[in-house]
This record gives sequence, structure tokens and C-alpha cells, in this order.
Amino acid sequence: MEISLHGIGVSPGIVIAPALVFLKSRWEVPQYDIESPERELCRFNRAVDAAREDLTRLVRQTTEGLGKTHADIFYAHLMLLDDVAIHEEVRERLIADRKNVEHVLDGLAKRYAKAMEAVEDPRFRERTSDLMDVTDRVLGHLLHVEKPNLKSLPQPSIVVAHELSPSDTASMDMENTLGLAMDVGSATSHSAILARALEIPAVVGVQHLSSHVAPGATIIIDGSEGVVIVNAEDATIERYRGAQARFELRRATLLSATETGPSRTEDGVEILTQTNIELPIEIPHSLKVNAEGIGLYRTEFLFLNRNEVPSEEEQYEAYSAVARALRPLPVTLRTIDIGGDKLVAHLQVLHEDNPQLGWRAVRFCLARPDIFKPQLRAMLRASAHGNVRIMFPMISGVEELRDVRRVLDEVRADLDAANVPYDRDVKVGSMIEVPSAVMIADLLAKECDFFSIGTNDLIQYSLAVDRVNEKIAHLYEPAHPGVLRMISRVTTAAVARGIPCGICGEMAGDPLYTELLLGLGVTSLSMSPIVLPVIRAEIASIRMAEARQVAIDALGMSTAREVKELLHRRSEARGTVDDYLAGVGLEG
Ligand code: PEP
Ligand code: MG
Repeated sequence: MEISLHGIGVSPGIVIAPALVFLKSRWEVPQYDIESPERELCRFNRAVDAAREDLTRLVRQTTEGLGKTHADIFYAHLMLLDDVAIHEEVRERLIADRKNVEHVLDGLAKRYAKAMEAVEDPRFRERTSDLMDVTDRVLGHLLHVEKPNLKSLPQPSIVVAHELSPSDTASMDMENTLGLAMDVGSATSHSAILARALEIPAVVGVQHLSSHVAPGATIIIDGSEGVVIVNAEDATIERYRGAQARFELRRATLLSATETGPSRTEDGVEILTQTNIELPIEIPHSLKVNAEGIGLYRTEFLFLNRNEVPSEEEQYEAYSAVARALRPLPVTLRTIDIGGDKLVAHLQVLHEDNPQLGWRAVRFCLARPDIFKPQLRAMLRASAHGNVRIMFPMISGVEELRDVRRVLDEVRADLDAANVPYDRDVKVGSMIEVPSAVMIADLLAKECDFFSIGTNDLIQYSLAVDRVNEKIAHLYEPAHPGVLRMISRVTTAAVARGIPCGICGEMAGDPLYTELLLGLGVTSLSMSPIVLPVIRAEIASIRMAEARQVAIDALGMSTAREVKELLHRRSEARGTVDDYLAGVGLEG
């Protein structure tokens, strides 16, 4: 029977293929008596050596393929592998119990895991899966069986899993992995980031998916809509094949038509079209679509999926790599926006009752100068290698902007004292994503060089609709007159002060809103690379005088429905309605 399941679309595109169900059930571990504990210990040491070789290879491959950050998890595994306490306990148990080492190791790991899971601090709970990962690796060598992995898939498939560990994703057969679907996960999970960066359609957070799919069953993934269809009927497959063909054709046409140079409206007004990135590995995608710079580099992704804070040096390397690759185009480095839906156990950014209103972004940074200052140092140092701009998230008042700027000045003074080069003209901007910042945009405009409106958060805060709660997703409404008035207020303040004002929330990548946003006075749009060609084409079809009139008309409307009807009529009139992004899920 056909079943349609919903999750979070984290990488757009449609794929229809057989499912490869990746179940990580652990193998049966034998138990038998032994004569010689020494012999067992030798077997154990040999298996540990072999596991060390595997991990060292994985570190190398991952560093080369994806960058050092992604390899860090395997360094952590290497440390666990050589944990003296574990080795000592294995030895003691072998002597005391006189059982085979597989049985001893398995029992030990399970006991440790249970104890770690019971601890409140999630850092310990996260380490449980690392411990089991390492134990499985050693057991695999002892038992001469290969741990289930995704290294080489027998045929092109959609990988269906409950959850994928960093080891699983990093060693995945990229050629044959056509799509990804998981029971758990969020847009910020390691596998989601990877899928997006590699343009593999993916849906995560599809509850109970892996228990509904039989191996080899044909499934459809619509990464734009966040839909997974299991046991699809012929008519459904037909329908999706059509949608897939249209999506691919449109993508190819848009890419081939993408010109270099700035985006221009039909009447010649230049609008900066830039990309949002999370990790340096996404740079090629931005270059491919001729982005005119990076409008938002979410640097907090460097801090996720790992057990420690990246050093100033590592950050400097990452930021300068992006600055160099894009030079002379601008790269906007946003200071870490940790908290909210991005929890980081090793920084004690843990669950809170109201995480979106909690300890996040600059609030966190101001409380943790030990993390904030090295990041600012790394950003300033990177500014010597390209056109770097620094941007602060979640600014809610003038004091806060002054506070973060004061820290930046202290860091500048340190660099001056040490004769470290950096761009003394580096531009400093404020994100406008909190309603209070909108109301005082005129005051903030006097104290920074540019604005970037974060509509993702601005919509959530102004409409009081949690952006990650699917139950109220229908209330998350970019076209709400309240939101439009806020955007208008911010652009007016920016124009009055002569500073540029862009948008880097998802609204910037939805062609339905392009004409309206331009009419409201937005001068740059930053979005994920995959949608940029569509927005460029959209801009080319817009005339500024008409856009201004659309903005005036929309600002006079009472409901989001009226606004959207107007915008749909406008796109129809310009003939740019297209289903390429019909449901890239940009509404929230
Ligand atoms: C936003 O809030 O619109 C934004 C771009 O930032 P983030 O999505 O990272 O919160
Ligand atoms: Mg935000």
C-alpha cells in the first residue's frame, strides 16, 4: 500500500529509486571460556591496532574530501580507542572472568554506555554513540566481520536509516547514494548539511520511516516538500517523474543561462545576489551559480557535530579560505549564532524552556569572551585575504551593538599591538531579526555599516510562531502585513542613513517575493545556491517603477492572503511562474 510520510526537506530535488535500508543492528557476540588471558589480550591489541589504522585512514580521507572539521570526530574516536582505563579494565576482566575478549569488551562497552546515558549532561550521552562506534570497529576486527557500512552500495539507491553517524556519512558511497531519508535529524544535522552541500535530495525527521520501508522497495523522495512516498503506485511514480524532469530541466536551463556579473532588473538597477553557506565545502556551489559574494556565512556550523571548540587557527583557516576563494567579492562572516535550535553540548548550550528566546547568538558571545574573542581575531585576520565583512546576529538594542563592537575594538587593539595584518576598513553589520531592532532601526543605522534582515527569525518573533514547530507552521507567514511593514521600516531607516540593507532569510530565495522586496528598497538578496539562478532570472524580469508600486499596494493591504494574491497575479503577468521551486519549502 502506498504511504506518504512527511518530514523536513533539507535538500531540494526529487528522486525515485530502490531503498537501501541501513539497519545498524549489532552482531551476535559469542561467549566462551578461555585458557589464556594473555592470548586474548594479544588478539585484543591486534584488533585495536587494525581499528587505529582504519581511523587514521578515515581521518586522512575525510580531511581531504570534506575538510578538517569533519575529521575531528575520528580524532575523538582515536582517543577513545587508546583510553588507558578501558584497556586496563579489559585486562582485569580477562584475568578474572576467563571469557573470550569479544564478550568482555562488549559487556564493558554496554555497561559504560548505560552509565553515560544515565548522566544528565548530554555531552556524556553524545559520547555513548562514539563509544559504541569504536567498540563495533574493534569487534569487527576480532570477529572478522565487516561492520555494516555504506561504503559501496550494490546499485544506485536511496539510503533509508534511523540515524546516520558521522562515520556512516563520511564513508558513504556518494556515487550511488541518490537520496537520503532518516527517521530523526534536523536541518543542522551532519548528514543534512552534507546532503545539501552535495545536492543530494534529502528528507529527515520522518518518524518511523525505516520501519515502514522494505529493502529494495521503490520510494520517492521530494526533498523540496519534505515528503517520502513508500511503495509508490504507478500513477504517483508517473506524476513525480514529470515533476522530477521539470525540476532537472529547469535547474539545467537556469544554470546554463546564469551570466556572470551583477544581477540587473529589466530597467538596469543592480541588485546583489549572494549565497548563504554553512561550511567552506559549499564554496564551489556558490561559484557555479555566479554568486556575487557570500551574504551570510553561518560560522556556527564549524562548532557543531564535534566535541570541542575550533581553535582560532582553525577558524582563521576556514574564514580565509572562503575570503580567498571569493576575492574580490564580499564574504559576510556572521559571528556564531549558537542556541535556539542549534544546541552545542560542549559549550553548555543545552535545552531551555524557550530556546528561541534564550541564551543564543550575541547573548551567548558576550557571556563567553573566551569563545567570542578568538572568533573575532580569526575573522579580522582573515580580512587580510579578501573582502571580509563581519555581521552580528540577534541584535536587539543599541547597547548590545555597542557591546559587541567594543569587544571587536579590543580585539583590533590586540592585533595592532602584535602587528598582525587585517583590513582596517572591515565593514561591520547588524542583522535585523528581532522586532525591537526594527523599531529602532534608525538608531542602529547610525552605528553600523550595513543591515541584513534575517526574515527567518524576524517572522518567528513578530508573529510569535516558533520557526521549528511543525504544528504551527501554517501560521508562519512571510506575507503578513506586519512583516512587510517591518521590512519597509528597516529599509527606510537604511536609506535615510545611506547604508545598504539586504535580506538573508529564506524569503530572499522565494521568487514570489522578489519584486515586492525590491520595491520595498532591499538592495541585496542572499540565499542557498540552488535557488540563486531562479532569483536572478526573476530580477531580470522586474521593472523598478512597477516593483515600487507593488510595494505600495501590498503595504496598503490588510491580509497576507490579499498580498499573496497580488504577488501571484504579478508573477503570472510577468510569465515567470515556475514550478522549479514550487515547494522548496521556503515558507518556513
Ligand atoms: C534568519 O534568521 O533569517 C537568518 C538568516 O539566520 P538563521 O536562519 O541562521 O537564524
Ligand atoms: Mg536568524
